[in-house]
Order: sequence, then structure tokens, then C-alpha cells
Amino acid sequence: MDTQEFDYVIVGAGSAGCVLASRLTEDPDTTVCLLEAGEKDSSVLIHAPVGIPALVRAKSSTNYGYETVPQPGLNGRRGYQPRGRTLGGSSSINAMLYVRGHRWDYDHWGELGNAGWSYDEVLPAFVRAENNEQIANSFHGQGGPLNVTYPLYDSAVTEMFLRAAESQGLARNPDYNGAEQEGAFVYQVTHRNGERCSSAKAYLTPNLARPNLDLKTEATSTRVLIDGSCAEGVEYERGGRLHRVRARREVIISSGAFGSPQLLMLSGIGTASDLQAHGIEVAHNLPGVGRNLQDHIDYVQSWRTPAWSDTVGLSARGAAKFAAGMLEWKKRRTGLMTTVYATGGAFMRSEAGLPAPDLQIVFVVAIVDDHARKMHLGHGISSHVDVLRPYSRGVVTLRSKDPHDSVLIDPGFLSDERDLELLVKGAQMQQRIVESAPFAPIRGEMLYATRIDDVAALREDIRNRADTQYHPVGTCKMGPADDPMAVVDERLRVRGIARLRVVDASIMPTLIGGNTNAPTIMIAERAASWIKAG
Ligand SMILES: Cc1cc2nc3c(=O)[nH]c(=O)nc-3n(C[C@H](O)[C@H](O)[C@H](O)COP(=O)(O)OP(=O)(O)OC[C@H]3O[C@@H](n4cnc5c(N)ncnc54)[C@H](O)[C@@H]3O)c2cc1C
Repeated sequence: MDTQEFDYVIVGAGSAGCVLASRLTEDPDTTVCLLEAGEKDSSVLIHAPVGIPALVRAKSSTNYGYETVPQPGLNGRRGYQPRGRTLGGSSSINAMLYVRGHRWDYDHWGELGNAGWSYDEVLPAFVRAENNEQIANSFHGQGGPLNVTYPLYDSAVTEMFLRAAESQGLARNPDYNGAEQEGAFVYQVTHRNGERCSSAKAYLTPNLARPNLDLKTEATSTRVLIDGSCAEGVEYERGGRLHRVRARREVIISSGAFGSPQLLMLSGIGTASDLQAHGIEVAHNLPGVGRNLQDHIDYVQSWRTPAWSDTVGLSARGAAKFAAGMLEWKKRRTGLMTTVYATGGAFMRSEAGLPAPDLQIVFVVAIVDDHARKMHLGHGISSHVDVLRPYSRGVVTLRSKDPHDSVLIDPGFLSDERDLELLVKGAQMQQRIVESAPFAPIRGEMLYATRIDDVAALREDIRNRADTQYHPVGTCKMGPADDPMAVVDERLRVRGIARLRVVDASIMPTLIGGNTNAPTIMIAERAASWIKAG
């Protein structure tokens, strides 16, 4: 078996892995090997923002397209879990909304015993990562790799949403990533020049010519090589053959909320009895691996609109607009092809006096049904609502010891009734917004019609149709030494195994109140600076 040697070996070129590879190779004397299971990010569907539904709706070469185990809280349905499998990872198939979460979330991580993770301590890493095209103040960065902007294309319907939200008491918020999160707004997005700015485009692609960076795509890591209690390197499979890379300094796992616990378990790090049941030799009994899975449960409601409304839909008019949009994007990188569909949004408190908003709305200028897996002829609008800090907890376990097998994903959606009750409140709030006067000129019949005052019907429709907002986290959680379920310490070093870190969304001890791409990039920025500082 051939063996190469580098200073660092990083597993996974996703949101976090691309940041680490780029930052660590800024020093020309540091060598890095970046292993990615997926292929290069060459599809135009990745780069043209309008391609999101096509990327998300089905399993493909760039989307793992996982299914969960049957969910009792969802009336026994299996949930769907798309995940990116290409350069940029999930940031190459995500909805591109730039959201950091609330100050409270990071202060809370600090209160859980994670020194150095308060909001004031993480803010500089958000700022360092960012190049914000419009907002220049102490909350935002200029000159960072991750480009953030307001979308180039807007729909007149977004203004209806903002007025409707105002009519229900939600003030317009000029910057939900700034001093105050609550209110209604237009989403900031990770775009550059009318194209998706994934973590790969921001951090990796511009630096691929560095001689000290070795990127290997279509290379699936099969296990971390461990000698006693020290990580020595990684074994990976490429082209049907096994290879080895040794790490002189560290192995860093950045394989995401499902991939990272899987690789730890395949390497003998996890609950000893679970590993033994699969015939895996135990390197370190670490019971938190794969536990503490948290995800945003999402409920979407849709209404039909006429074809003349400024929405994206399946009609002759829609097709003509689309064709013109394609020509415009080819020539100038502007127009309809730059839409993220999810134009408007809101953060809301279900009750006054809460320390932070507990619900998020994602308003979409199209009909969204079952992750775009069910398509409808005609035009429409949709509103998603999410429980920001769910009480429900899930778990990721091995299906088998074959690294190419998917893990068993059990998000435990709505296993805690408090999540259902909050989602019902959120659904009522969003329905009031869409059923208010500003939408009257375009609002038609509701798909899956429910009445605001019929709580029993809302509960049932939620159990029948709610699913992920694509933010699984927490399966290798960071925690203090006295927490037996902590997988990594506050510097993201795996407890009990030297020279091994996990750096990605899986280390979040609790889910933050917002989308998870920018927070994952922030986590990787911080880890890179600690590693560089030695
Ligand atoms: C459909 C969708 C929409 C979303 N929308 C938004 C949004 O609008 N805004 C937002 O902020 N967040 C959004 N998110 C969430 C966000 O993109 C993720 O939280 C974030 O990308 C997670 O980053 P990560 O580094 O933890 O993992 P990932 O980016 O998923 O990266 C993991 C990488 O590791 C690779 N890998 C895994 N196992 C192995 C192995 N054994 N060997 C080699 N490579 C391996 C994978 O192929 C992948 O490339 C969305 C996610 C999805 C899926």
C-alpha cells in the first residue's frame, strides 16, 4: 500500500474543510492533504443559484440524499437528508442564506463550560471570514474570502411579504446579522458576481495551485490510523484501492454531522459495545460520538398565485421568463438565474420576554412541496417556519462497518411535544402574515389547506409534512472535561486521542438560532488560527 506524508490530513472538503485547507497552507512551509469523497464542483447547477431545487431534490453524484429511520413524531415517515458530496460539501448545494445565529447562542455555549466561545469571542472570526458588499460596520467584514451580498435579483412579492410582516407587528430589520436579530428582512446571501460562493469557491479553488496543498477528490476515508492513543494518519479508498496518508502533526476530521461520527466509529472511537457489535476493535470508548443530534424541524405552507405574479412557476409564462433569464445570466451573470427563491425572512418571538427569537421564517417565491420532490403546475408562494432551539434529540449510529454504507440517522423529530406546540404557534403566525391584506392581490387557494384556529388539524398536517431545514449538528459535541458525552474539548481536540480534531457542524453543543453554514465557517476559521499558533 502506498503511503504519503503531510503535516496535516483533513478529511472532507466541505464548509469547514475548505477553510482549514486554505488557512493552513497560507504558510508555504506547511503541507496539507485534503481528502474529499465527492467529485469536483463542475456542474453549472452548483454555480447558478437557480439550480438549488435540482441539486437538493434527489440523490446524485453531488448529493448523498440520505433518508432517516422512520420517525414516530412524523407519523412514521422517513425524513429526507440531502448533504453535499463535492468540493464545498453542503455549501455547494445549500440555499445560500447568510445567517449567523443569535448572540445568546454563543454565550450559551460558553455557559455550558466551553471557554472562549462567547459571542464577543466568536464575532472576530465571522468578520474575518466575510466580504460584505453592502454593510460596513463593526459586525461585518470586508476583504474576507466569503462574499456576502443582497441578491441581485428581487421579486416584487418580497415587498408584499415585508409589508405583510409589518402588518403583524414585525418591524423591518436592516441587518439581522447585526445588533438585533428580530424582525423581517431580505436575506443576505453567499454569492459573488451572480454565482454561488460556496466554501470551495471562497477558500479552496483560488488556492489550488499552492504546491503545499494536495487535494484528492473521489477519495473516501475509511478510517483514522491510530497507534495506541495517538492519530497517525488516514486510510482512504480511491479507484477501488486502499491508500494511506500519514500526518506529521494532526488529522482533522471535517466530514459533517453524519460523516464525522461515522469515521470516528469506523476508527474504533465511540460507544464500545456498539463498535464491538459491528466487529470493530475499540481504540477509545467515547459514548458521545453520534449522540446529541439536533436539527431544525421545518413546516412549509403554500398558496397558489396567478402566473402574472412575480413568482417562479411551471407555466408557459414561467418557461419564457426562465429562457430569457438563462441568456441574461450567460451574458452578464444577472437576472432570474441568480434567485435563491427564499427572498424574505423573519425572526420572531413566540412570546414576549424570551431572551432571543425562537422561530424563523423563510419566505419563498415559488411552491415548495416535499423538498421540491413533488412538483406542481402553476405559480405560488410558500412560507417555511422553523423551531430554532428544539428540545428533541436524535442519534447517528453505524448501519455496518462498510465505509460506503450510510449511517442510520434518527433525528428524533418532534419526539418532544414542546417542539410541536411551538411549531403550531409558528405556523399560525406565518399563516396570519400570508393571509393579511398586502398579499390579497395575488393570494389564491392554499395547498394542504388549514385554518389558523384549527390547532388539531395543524398538528396533524405538521406530523404529516414537516421535515428538516437541513441543519443537523451536535453529533461530536464540544464540552468540558466533566461532561462524559463531550467528544471534543473547547479547542476541538478529540478527548482521549492525541493529534486528532473534529472541526465542522458536528461539534456544536446546541443548535444555534439560524442557518448553519456561516457558523461552521466561523468554527473552522477559529480552529485554523489555533492550529497555526501551535
Ligand atoms: C439543502 C441544504 C440547504 C441548506 N441551506 C442553508 C442555507 O441557506 N444557509 C446556511 O447557512 N446553511 C444551509 N445549509 C446547512 C449548511 O450548508 C451546513 O450546515 C454546512 O455546509 C455544514 O458544513 P460541514 O463542514 O459540517 O459539512 P459539509 O459541508 O456537509 O462537508 C462534509 C464533507 O465531507 C465529505 N466527506 C464525508 N465523509 C467523508 C469521508 N469518509 N471521506 C472523505 N470525505 C468525506 C463530504 O463529501 C462533504 O464534502 C443547508 C444544507 C443543505 C443540505
